[in-house]
Amino acid sequence: MRFVVTAGPTREHLDPVRFLSNPSSGRMGFAVARAAAAAGCKVSLVAGPVSLATPEGVERVDVTSAREMMAAVESELEAARGEMCVLVMSAAVADWRPKTSSPVKLKKGEMSAVLELERNPDILAAVNSKVKAGELDGSRLVRVGFAAETGDPEGEARRKCAAKGLDMIVANDVSMPGCGFGVGTNKATLFFPDGGRADLEMMTKEELAGEIVARAIALAGRRSCDV
Ligand code: C5P
Repeated sequence: MRFVVTAGPTREHLDPVRFLSNPSSGRMGFAVARAAAAAGCKVSLVAGPVSLATPEGVERVDVTSAREMMAAVESELEAARGEMCVLVMSAAVADWRPKTSSPVKLKKGEMSAVLELERNPDILAAVNSKVKAGELDGSRLVRVGFAAETGDPEGEARRKCAAKGLDMIVANDVSMPGCGFGVGTNKATLFFPDGGRADLEMMTKEELAGEIVARAIALAGRRSCDV
């Protein structure tokens, strides 16, 4: 079985030295990649700019922007054609990018106080379009997403799970102490499209990664029986 895991932030450059991004450390995605490799799966880790060592037995593809991440995910899923594959979208993909980007450093005086932005593509939506178009086999693809919310994540998590065609969504309230960006622990709730949910205890990201990988493998196993 294959895993394609995304991790970290994306950077959306205005010029070579300025960008829009977020504080994702990549730790959750790297832990998922490590856990999947430890479970004997072939793992491709599509990583945004982070300062983490590549886990043993994991193939890493480094990317910078959301569009590069999307291209890398599509190419990894393409390479997995014919195999059961789990896509874990743990990256914190930047929703917006500057409308224009300069290949050379902009002088202060050349910059406007108002930044014009445009939407980045949604990677999961792009994957779903390829499934709909018959370019990827949805019956061999388990999709896992993340939802970082402030406040009770259930409503938004269930909405995203349905909208993004996910088999499982890992949701957490990032305003809670010990949760979310930059910390070593997380308290997550898993939601499933059949209405199911699993409330997990506060645990390290490594423990949570083990839980996610085990459940994703179980979902893929069930899918194999149907194929
Ligand atoms: O809508 P939101 O960004 O909260 O959705 C989170 C989920 O969607 C995550 O799994 C994230 O990796 C994925 N995502 C994506 N493409 C984007 C933004 C988020 O696939 N442009």
